[in-house]
Amino acid sequence: MQTTGSFAKLAEEVLARCRRLALFSEDTCGTRRTFLSPPMKDCHREVSSWMKALGMSVSVDAVGNLRGLYPGASLGAPRILIGSHLDTVPNAGAFDGILGVVLAVGLVESLEKSKLPFAIEVIGFSEEEGVRFGVPFIGSRALVGRVDQELLDRRDEHGVSVRKAIQDFGLNPETIPDAQLRDDVLGYLEFHIEQGPVLENLNRPLGVVEAIVGQNRLEFTFSGHANHPGTTPMHLRHDALAAAAEWIVTVESTARETAEMVATVGFVEAKPGATNVIPGEARATLDIRHASDKLRGQTLDDLIRRAQAIAAKRGVSVEWRTLLAQNAVEMDHFLTGQIEQAIRGSGCQPHRMPSGAGHDAMIVAEKVPSAMIFLRTPGGISHDPAESVHLDDVAKALDCGFQLLTQLASSQEFLGRTCRA
Ligand SMILES: [Zn+2]
Repeated sequence: MQTTGSFAKLAEEVLARCRRLALFSEDTCGTRRTFLSPPMKDCHREVSSWMKALGMSVSVDAVGNLRGLYPGASLGAPRILIGSHLDTVPNAGAFDGILGVVLAVGLVESLEKSKLPFAIEVIGFSEEEGVRFGVPFIGSRALVGRVDQELLDRRDEHGVSVRKAIQDFGLNPETIPDAQLRDDVLGYLEFHIEQGPVLENLNRPLGVVEAIVGQNRLEFTFSGHANHPGTTPMHLRHDALAAAAEWIVTVESTARETAEMVATVGFVEAKPGATNVIPGEARATLDIRHASDKLRGQTLDDLIRRAQAIAAKRGVSVEWRTLLAQNAVEMDHFLTGQIEQAIRGSGCQPHRMPSGAGHDAMIVAEKVPSAMIFLRTPGGISHDPAESVHLDDVAKALDCGFQLLTQLASSQEFLGRTCRA
């Protein structure tokens, strides 16, 4: 049985390893490691060496996911997946995604060679951030059979297609179907930094994700009349930007009225865009997210009605188009409950929360019961070199993960599950 002290030592190693991987970068200054880039090879070599030292068999599938299998107690035992992503954004921190992979390797280490009724497959996804090809989740999509020809034909800024990038990395795109999950998978677990301020505000080290929020992205265009700002009296104007501005403030106040609703206008553009012209047209985007598809839909309908009312009152027109509509993905109820129990077992008070950001678990959940554990993120800072995580929280996460594996190993309900893959 592991002790709190040994988790603290293991946590130190996990942090040191995350920082070491941050050195494998496409940029000389800062960390940037995109899909199938040369430093990803170095990253694979390093993580593979840790896995092999624990008796894991390591392979890289056709989209570049690093997969290490720690065998179960018996031949043909089912498996659970534990993982996250190894790619990064430009000028990244050391922990987004990476921590989930390194922590999974640490959990295998914490077993001290003992075997469970299931094998553990640690996955380091090759692509989650969508930096190189503008499409996220290429790694996890391969596991659920969602890498199609259109995706393989996509090109990066240098004109290299996904297919060519796979070949250049020494992999064979024809074998992508082999990356798909088989029917021996009992579940998927992902440890990830929260990347937000909620857990820190509550002073809790660990959170359990109930659902990954759904989101809509739209573009609104307000059309009025451009005119002379000196000769047009205020009451005879049809100012498109003023209409957009009134609506933007309404977006903010409306979202504040509903718990856990977040809505953002992140882009505005006024035309013609001159100091001495009343704006004739204003474009504004909307990003709205919530774990409840129903509530999100109602709020979105309300915001569209408000845009129409504001436009009508000001004698301008408004049109909108949808850029993205994605439903929420619920995490597995059984696993979520087990995680809460394990968090309590590690001496922490669990906090159930939605994830406002997308994660690999959202894709894997299409085929396999999936769940996520969040680690408190100091200052809520992520996608920045200042991203960090507390050593104590990593030790708690390892403790929680170890307890979770122990719970699952003795759960007939879990072991009796069959995969939907
Ligand atoms: Zn991430």
